Amino acid sequence: MTEVSVTKDAIPPGADDLVVLKNVNKHFGALHVLQDIDLTIARGEVVVVIGPSGSGKSTLCRAVNRLETIDSGDISIDGKPLPQEGKELARLRADVGMVFQSFNLFAHKTVLENVTLGQIKVRKTGKAEAEKKARALLDRVGVASQADKYPAQLSGGQQQRVAIARALAMDPKVMLFDEPTSALDPEMINEVLEVMQQLARDGMTMVVVTHEMGFARSAANRVVFMADGRIVEEATPDQFFSNPRSDRAKDFLSKIL
Ligand code: ADP
Ligand code: MG
Repeated sequence: MTEVSVTKDAIPPGADDLVVLKNVNKHFGALHVLQDIDLTIARGEVVVVIGPSGSGKSTLCRAVNRLETIDSGDISIDGKPLPQEGKELARLRADVGMVFQSFNLFAHKTVLENVTLGQIKVRKTGKAEAEKKARALLDRVGVASQADKYPAQLSGGQQQRVAIARALAMDPKVMLFDEPTSALDPEMINEVLEVMQQLARDGMTMVVVTHEMGFARSAANRVVFMADGRIVEEATPDQFFSNPRSDRAKDFLSKIL
């Protein structure tokens, strides 16, 4: 059977695996928030994670850069298991860029300083080189002229683009986005999605939790649908949106589309 008009091809299994979760379980007290999660993300792949509120999407992202511990299972990045603590953990975090719903910029640092800080402290890059790279990245996300301002002087869309530049400054192997446009005024959503689209086209490995189905359709290689702490369905965007298999996914799509 041939697929019709798939924008991006699904990446075949066994390709160059970058992020691997095996049988991951996590509880918050009695709540089994991640249940037997098996997920492999190939280098260069863009995976969009969708699902109802409370299904465990944020916890999944947070587990991948170890902002949350897991109870059992294995997570590895580029063949290396997630370290428990210390310098190794700091390095791992630098390999995994994270962009949150709330922009999380350092309020008392300028835009430029926000993008140089990690480079200088974690990557041990010299100040001049860090600033050069920061300015190039700020230019890439379209906020070069804001370099000397403080976050509060920027719009939400600009702040989120700075947050993306800050994450990219660490040369991450994978970028995680947790509902990056959910806190934005509607007119600013597209300017952030366009930066993410460009990143995807440039070959960045990305895990994106979002309700922006247009983005999922055009940028994702794969859609992962979560409900109640489980991965219920995985498919290409075309398959998922035109022919969801599970009742949970059908129900979810009927509410958001
Ligand atoms: P999603 O991002 O899909 O909305 P989350 O991963 O944020 O879901 O949360 C999944 C479930 O875990 C929710 O029921 C939430 O209330 C609960 N939860 C999340 N973080 C914590 C925490 N730190 N302590 C206790 N419960 C939590
Ligand atoms: Mg969430």
